[in-house]
Amino acid sequence: MPRYVSHLEGAIDVARLDPDVLHTLHQDRPIWVRYDLAAIGRELTKERLLSRPETMWRYRELLPYYDESDVVSLGERMTPLLPAPRLGAKLGTGNLWIKDESLLPTGSFKSRGLAMAITMAKRLGVKRVALPTAGNAGGAAAAYAARAGMECFVFMPEDTPAINQYECALAGAKTFLVNGLINDCGRIVREWKERMCWFDLSTLKEPYRIEGKKTMWLDLAEQCGWELPDVILYPTGGGTGLIGMWKAFAELAELGWLRSAKMPRMVSVQSSGCAPIVTAFEKGERFAEVFPNAHSIASGIRVPAAVGDFMILDAVRQSGGTAIAVDESRIQEWMRLAVAAEGIPLCPESAACVGALEHLRESNWIKPTDRVVLFNTGAAQKYLEAIRTELPRLDKSQPVAWERM
Ligand SMILES: *Cc1c(COP(=O)(O)O)cnc(C)c1O
Repeated sequence: MPRYVSHLEGAIDVARLDPDVLHTLHQDRPIWVRYDLAAIGRELTKERLLSRPETMWRYRELLPYYDESDVVSLGERMTPLLPAPRLGAKLGTGNLWIKDESLLPTGSFKSRGLAMAITMAKRLGVKRVALPTAGNAGGAAAAYAARAGMECFVFMPEDTPAINQYECALAGAKTFLVNGLINDCGRIVREWKERMCWFDLSTLKEPYRIEGKKTMWLDLAEQCGWELPDVILYPTGGGTGLIGMWKAFAELAELGWLRSAKMPRMVSVQSSGCAPIVTAFEKGERFAEVFPNAHSIASGIRVPAAVGDFMILDAVRQSGGTAIAVDESRIQEWMRLAVAAEGIPLCPESAACVGALEHLRESNWIKPTDRVVLFNTGAAQKYLEAIRTELPRLDKSQPVAWERM
C-alpha cells in the first residue's frame, strides 16, 4: 500500500475499498483516495517542501504512488501564477491572476491527471488503456502511455480540434474519430473494454486522475503563501479540475496548513452551448441531466453528461460559489481580448472564464478588490480552428504604403 494512503472510498456510499488492487467505478460512481493525514502532518512540513524539485511530485505524501521508480513523468513543472493587470483593468478588477497550466507537457493541465493515472495503472499491471476524450485528455493519455510503454486507444468526436487528433496518432495511440460526442465515445469503451482488455481511463472512472489534478491546487496554495484567493474561475467539463480543487483544499485544511478557514468561492464556468452543470445548479438539483445538442468551440468543456456531476455541484455549493454559462458566440472574442491584453495563450475554455468574470463583475458578485484567480487550462496554440486569422499579405517586390496600415 502506498505509504500514506489509508484506503479508497466509494463516493456515493462511503464504502472502504482495497487500495492495492485496480479499481474502476464503485456502484457506478467514482472512488476517492483517502490518506492518513495525521501521519502526513507529523512527517511533512511546509518548510520541508521548499527544498524539493519544483514538480508535481514534490507533494508525494499527498499522492497515491508506491515508489519513486514507479513514476511515469514528462517533467510536470509547477506552473506560473501571473498577475493580469491589463485584463483586470478591462474587466473592472484590480486583483486578477492567471495560473498558466498551458506550460505543462502536452499543453494542458490534463497531464497532471494522466501522469498519475498511468503511473498507477502501470504499477498495478495494466498493459492497455482506452479512453473517450473531448481533446486534451487523449493527447495526454497517448503521451504518457507511450512513455510507459503501454498500448493506448483513443476515441474522440470527429470534429475534435485537429491538433488533438494528430497529437494522439503521433504518440502512437490507436486513434478513432466518432460521429458523436464524448459520451458516445465513452459508450464504445464501456461496451468493448472486457473483450479488448482495455483499462478504462475515462474521467473519474478510475481513482487516480483526480489525485494528479489535485497537485494543481497544492501548487496554487503554495504559491499563494497558503492564503487562498477569494474567487477561483474554472472551466467545467467532466469536472475533475473542480472536484480535485475541493479535495486538495479540504486536505490542506485538515493538515492545518491554510492561513484562513475561509475557502475560495468556486465558479464553475460552462458555455451556453453545453451547460449541464449550470442547469442543475440553477434548478437546485444534485444530479445533472444530459445536455441536448451540446456544442462549443471550447472542446474541453463540451461534455453533455458528467459521471461526477454531484461531486462538482456539492463542491461549488459548499464553497459558496456559483455556476455560470457564458454566450458561446463570444468565446473567441474573449480569447482575443485576454491574449492581446496579457500575452498569455488562453485556450477557449479559459476564455469562457473571462466572460464569466465580465458578468460576475457587472452583477458585483465579484467585488473589485477580490483576489481572483482564473485558470488557463490549456494552450491556445492547440486550437488552430479557433485562432485562425486572415493576415495581410505583402508582395516582396512592391513598395508598401505603410501609412495606410
Ligand atoms: C478537460 C479540459 C477542461 C475541463 O476540465 P474538467 O476537469 O474535465 O472539468 C477545461 N479546459 C481544458 C483545456 C481541458 O482540456
